[in-house]
Amino acid sequence: MIKIIRTMPPHQLSPEIVKQLTEDYMSTKRNVWNVGYIKNALLDMSNSKCIFCECKLGEESKYIEVEHFHPKSLYPEEVLSWTNLLPICKRCNGLKRDHDTKLNPIINPTVDEPKDYLFIKDYRYRAIDDLGKRTIRVLQLNDSDRLVLPRFKIGEAIATAIESLVRVKDKIDIDTKTEDDNELIIKLRKLLVSCQPDSEYSTVCSYALLTDDNYFEVKDYLVSENLWDFELERLETVSFKHSLVRNKEHSI
Ligand SMILES: [Zn+2]
Repeated sequence: MIKIIRTMPPHQLSPEIVKQLTEDYMSTKRNVWNVGYIKNALLDMSNSKCIFCECKLGEESKYIEVEHFHPKSLYPEEVLSWTNLLPICKRCNGLKRDHDTKLNPIINPTVDEPKDYLFIKDYRYRAIDDLGKRTIRVLQLNDSDRLVLPRFKIGEAIATAIESLVRVKDKIDIDTKTEDDNELIIKLRKLLVSCQPDSEYSTVCSYALLTDDNYFEVKDYLVSENLWDFELERLETVSFKHSLVRNKEHSI
């Protein structure tokens, strides 16, 4: 879960339309929010990810569902309020259902900074306070089969990849230095790209990479060889900024 900047509402969602469709919903209970322009605007806002679990939406069977952060069943006047709408996956929507977020708040990533309330350890979300705790429980963010095991697989793939880079680094000799250095730069960059906010499960990827000593061993080598460039530095800075790694010395 990462902080998402709320974008402007789609131009089709004018105050007149909101008023008209909200009245329509009140009287008919029609799915007035279930339209392409709202879904597309929400996907643009979240880099096409579920706002809570970070799975990519619109891929495989993970279609976007329009989430009403304050449930429409309890707060029907907010059924088309742009600031109440979030992109969400079927799994998370099915769990949150009509949970009353005004009486018992959970994290709203377009309002709250998730890392103020959550961190990741051993591929599980951990709570810093009660808001984090309730968010984990309501959304079952540590569902073993559907979330924790897939996170572990991602982490294992990253650990294997960075371990292989250490092996490349340790075998560099004068004859192959250029090609080996280039391999290190390109593969490390690719790993850092997986930690960027637009990547699926970016918080899991950044946890796996930025807590791995092998990553820093490869980075230190590139720095010592003057190969750690502006782009790598920028990617690392963004990765730390959006990560849920608790280690304060790595915070920026
Ligand atoms: Zn989800």
